[in-house]
Amino acid sequence: MEQSRAYEILTENMQKEGCPLCRAVNDSVRQTMKSILYEGMTDRQIRERIRSQRGFCRHHGNMFLQEGDALAHAIVYGDALRAALKDVVADDFTAFEKPKVCYFCEHTQKAEDLYVNAMTLSCQNAEFLEAYRKSAPLCLHHLHSVHECIKKKKLGEDLYTAVGQITIDNYQVLLDELDEIQRKNDYRFSHEAWTEGEKTAWKRVVGIIHDAVSLPQKKKGLFGK
Ligand SMILES: [Zn+2]
Ligand SMILES: [Zn+2]
Repeated sequence: MEQSRAYEILTENMQKEGCPLCRAVNDSVRQTMKSILYEGMTDRQIRERIRSQRGFCRHHGNMFLQEGDALAHAIVYGDALRAALKDVVADDFTAFEKPKVCYFCEHTQKAEDLYVNAMTLSCQNAEFLEAYRKSAPLCLHHLHSVHECIKKKKLGEDLYTAVGQITIDNYQVLLDELDEIQRKNDYRFSHEAWTEGEKTAWKRVVGIIHDAVSLPQKKKGLFGK
């Protein structure tokens, strides 16, 4: 994908709800999922890959389920269950013991690299950075990824601080809203109306703490692991 297209997608996402990077990565995974559903079921290599892993990881299994395609499920899970039955007969559960990095996990990692890179480079553009100020903030995972990318590319402390400060300011607004929700749950203040922000803050904070892309293994260095 061209850098300019990634820039466009991120700019669009900054006008929507939630972490713009989580949305970009998830949309990309979902598109791949759709193309698998319409073309990949006839691709022997893809089917064999999915069969050998006995389906997908739990996160992508749920995403696949949301597509609601009965035929695709009959094919993919028919293959997986047939293979699993052989495991049971052979009393061999090694396929289930390995950490599951499924077909879509690999795509997620590629999309993640592409968009983190695009977000980082785009933040050098003043107009883009201003749009980020008005956007929902990056989740913690993606803030850390962008910060790591800025360091790796040696783009300078100013950019590191600018992205960090905008994000922190945004988190602070959310934190104030969460505090207000708690205060207004006290009977003395329960007559006070909730603001529009407070009505959704308790849901939005979940997407900040838990990123929505669910990478199977965080890259080395993320969150000190
Ligand atoms: Zn995110
Ligand atoms: Zn997966």
